[in-house]
Amino acid sequence: MKKTLLVILIVILGIIGFNWYQSTQTLKTANASEWDLKLVNVNHRLDSNFVPNLTTVDNGQQLDSRVVSSYEKMTTAAKSAGATLVAGSGYRSYAQQEQVLNRNIESREAKGMSATAARSDALKTVNQPGASEHQTGLAMDFLTPREQKAGSDVTQSFAKTKQGKWLAANSWKYGWILRYPENGKNSTHISYESWHFRYVGKRNASYIYHHHLTLEQYIAKISN
Ligand SMILES: [Zn+2]
Repeated sequence: MKKTLLVILIVILGIIGFNWYQSTQTLKTANASEWDLKLVNVNHRLDSNFVPNLTTVDNGQQLDSRVVSSYEKMTTAAKSAGATLVAGSGYRSYAQQEQVLNRNIESREAKGMSATAARSDALKTVNQPGASEHQTGLAMDFLTPREQKAGSDVTQSFAKTKQGKWLAANSWKYGWILRYPENGKNSTHISYESWHFRYVGKRNASYIYHHHLTLEQYIAKISN
């Protein structure tokens, strides 16, 4: 009996030690200048001519060709778990982002806002061109089949769907992270987006998920 307990204890300590070792190795070897850790936000903008190599996935959406295989593995696993995902919005060009922003500004002006007020209000929810992670081709906004059928845009209620829950719990296994978590706004400058996932590679995703970090916090940690 005592021997069995001892063996169990050794196994548990072994697992803890192995996980700790893996974590430290991830931090040591992670390199913020790798393509899959490309940081794009309001302080780190892309040039207007930045265009990745693109591959079309489902629903006419495109991603950086290098992340397509992990994307397909993830969506196939989700489907098997009964959480069919629909690609809502993947790669968006600089010009498309500019159009999205302009449409948002114009609709506010149409409601009577001044040009300045309309612009600053629109920028609360829409990124400036060059500051959107969608231009990297490494991010995807997901929809449920029901949302797609209804012609709906992304919604906050995605978090409560089977799809949203599955992604939040499992995407890291495929190298994807929930990019804008709840309470992450101080570092990401963007409010909670339960539908927006970003490829960072398996080891980075595992570390970020298990240590509850944002991409900005992780990059700061490995750049020290
Ligand atoms: Zn998005």
